[in-house]
Amino acid sequence: MIQRFIAMIFKDVENENETKKVSVILRLNALIMCVYFLCLLGIFFVVGERTPLVMLLMCFSVYGLAFYTTYMNDTKLAVYFSVLFTAIWIFIFIRQFGWDCGIQHFIFVLLVLGFTISYRRLPWKLLMSAAACLFRLALYSFTRQYEPRYVLGSEVSAVYQIANTIFVFIGITGILAVFTKDSMEMEQKLIQYNEKLHRLASIDPLTGLLNRRSMREFLEKKIRAYQNGHIESMSIALGDIDFFKHINDTYGHECGDVVLKRLSSLFLSNIENKGTISRWGGEEFLFAFHHMNGDEAMMFLNDLNRKMKRMEIHYNEHVIKVTMTFGLSEFDFERGIDYSVNDVDKKLYRGKEAGRDRTIY
Ligand code: GH3
Ligand code: MG
Ligand code: MG
Repeated sequence: MIQRFIAMIFKDVENENETKKVSVILRLNALIMCVYFLCLLGIFFVVGERTPLVMLLMCFSVYGLAFYTTYMNDTKLAVYFSVLFTAIWIFIFIRQFGWDCGIQHFIFVLLVLGFTISYRRLPWKLLMSAAACLFRLALYSFTRQYEPRYVLGSEVSAVYQIANTIFVFIGITGILAVFTKDSMEMEQKLIQYNEKLHRLASIDPLTGLLNRRSMREFLEKKIRAYQNGHIESMSIALGDIDFFKHINDTYGHECGDVVLKRLSSLFLSNIENKGTISRWGGEEFLFAFHHMNGDEAMMFLNDLNRKMKRMEIHYNEHVIKVTMTFGLSEFDFERGIDYSVNDVDKKLYRGKEAGRDRTIY
């Protein structure tokens, strides 16, 4: 029963051009106001104030109607209906009962309602706020000129004031709860979406390594860290698979992809947090060794080359073995990325010329 009731409040709008959030806020507001008027009916009935009962019953019914309008798939109509009616009953009730009962506090509910259900720009919302302020001032000056129609006894007035205060808080809390729930979820989704986009844009889909663009960004960051005195040394190496074209030509392009993936996993499992690896080009990989001088990086590459030689890559019934040639240098923070990469590229070329399967430092 309760679940069905909650489902009814959060029921989605059928027309896809209408927003669900606005409808839910309006429903909740209408519902709270119905309860409010029911409570007032009880209070006024108990204390023997019979004359306002018809008025209260009418307001209860009109909010029932406001609740119904949110299912008519015309959000604009539902918005105008709720906002206008709220302004009207506030005016009438203040006219009837005067300023001391605190009915004017519902103008704040009206303002919060206006802000949360309106998709207009900020100037329009500021105008709305000014209008609410003027409305309140106008009502105040009105009550100073005209006596209320019903003069409530001080005790009834106090009870009425308490009921108003409580329902104003309930109203504002309810509206904001729905409003912030949605916007927080949206924000969370947006953050996740942005992170995903960033990941997709920075990672090579085949190998899972950084792509060239994000490796450049990474190196730029390292240069800034060097300039700020946070790091002192870093080495880079450019590696290229030997006779890779031959693998493609002999076993097919798909097999070449398998080799690229297997090698990338080998790199990643060996480098751990000692460095960063990127797919710099087709079958070229740029390694950055954090806080390592050339000798230390050389030891790492020798070890990697040994493991690579032991590795057997199975593709269909074939067993493929690969070697790589590397050009290695200490990163030149002063001369920058292009200079340093060019330097290792030249060494890599020399390594190829000298017969491949080696590291030139
Ligand atoms: P070397 O020892 O001189 O490096 O010889 P190589 O055959 O490896 O050199 P080359 O640069 O001539 O060949 C590289 C080949 O890599 C050519 C290209 O088709 C292939 N390649 C580039 N990207 C990919 C890829 O994503 N998948 C596959 N399967 N092959 C790729
Ligand atoms: Mg190549
Ligand atoms: Mg090659």
